[in-house]
Amino acid sequence: MKMSFYLMRKILATLAVSALTLSSFALPLEAAEPPPPPPFKQWLEDLKAEASGRGISNELLDRALSDIKPITRVIELDRRQPEFSMTFWSYLTKSVNAARIKKGRDMLVKHKALLGRVSKALGVQPRFLVAFWGLESNFGTYTGVFPVVGALVTLAHDRRRPKFFRDQLLAVLQLIDQGNFSDDVKGSWAGAMGNHQFIPTTYRDFAVDFDGDGKRNLWRSLPDIFASAANYLHRSGWDPKRTWGREVKLPKRIDLAVTGLETLKPLAEWQKLGIRQMNGGPLPKVDIEASVVLPAGYQGPAFLVYKNFRTVMVWNRSIYYAIAVGHLADRLVGAGPLKTKKPIKDVALSRRDVMDIQRRLTALGFDTGGVDGRVGPMTRKAIKAYQSSVYLPADGYPNMGLLERLRGA
Ligand code: CA
Repeated sequence: MKMSFYLMRKILATLAVSALTLSSFALPLEAAEPPPPPPFKQWLEDLKAEASGRGISNELLDRALSDIKPITRVIELDRRQPEFSMTFWSYLTKSVNAARIKKGRDMLVKHKALLGRVSKALGVQPRFLVAFWGLESNFGTYTGVFPVVGALVTLAHDRRRPKFFRDQLLAVLQLIDQGNFSDDVKGSWAGAMGNHQFIPTTYRDFAVDFDGDGKRNLWRSLPDIFASAANYLHRSGWDPKRTWGREVKLPKRIDLAVTGLETLKPLAEWQKLGIRQMNGGPLPKVDIEASVVLPAGYQGPAFLVYKNFRTVMVWNRSIYYAIAVGHLADRLVGAGPLKTKKPIKDVALSRRDVMDIQRRLTALGFDTGGVDGRVGPMTRKAIKAYQSSVYLPADGYPNMGLLERLRGA
């Protein structure tokens, strides 16, 4: 019985796939919308029961959830789809700008003693703590204005990612119940809080009280702020004896299939493959493994990245973000701009272009994991495989040249 049902579903799925491949390219191939959520009131009662079952006080639940309603603006922000994807260069110019470097250097001097103590206790170099701080909240100047409970109620009730946000909501209620902060705590529209924009589960699991007042305050206590960031990094595998990576020079002839985070090799092997420091010098003789990443394709800058780079990606899965953290940290201690220059024409792909690329790759049998207009790991992998199959430089990087090539395929 089960078997035949499974088989039937499989056949139906196959039919559906072939129908989609044949269908007009104007039709988005996105996954079907999840079912609508239950009525809000009923949902809220169920949530209260679950929270209460987890030991959150009924007093708090009545107080914080009695007048609560979904916030339309939060749904709008969640559904927002930028027309153009951001290029590596526009991201880097925006996040590592002159004002931020200047302020970061000042902060490094101003809080030298405290940063030194945190660094010694938790094993993360001060320049990185300040770099994260600069990127997350512009050194505490912007920590978000949305009521976190209301925002998380909205997203947990919404159909898109109810499980993830329900966990975040339960975590924030628990944090309030334990006296970490008040009911009207503010944060980003998605519930990220404090100077390092921790989501509630990160706050719950990694925030620490470093000034000894018994509370974990990530808004106003710099000792708690720096130590919590350091603790999160430390527990995610940060190595205080190493840096994040460096910009490197690729040799003229290199098989680009070895680039990307999926390939790890010892520095000595990268040295043998012809990779050099930007000044032409050899790579350091240290026994560590590294990957090569090309955030703007093979014509852009190349980075040899170490273990700490992967730890930054635990914090934020974006390669752009991880490079920005590393580069900003370098700039704070005197390094200059990247040696590779930004191209005069830095063309951003539109969401429709990316979807077109994904649709065409999928039709050719290169699985992009759906057609969502975003360039994630699956899409990069599919691009790389396609490029290899047609003898293009396999950097996994989408651009107009790739799209034109696919249109002619
Ligand atoms: Ca504290």
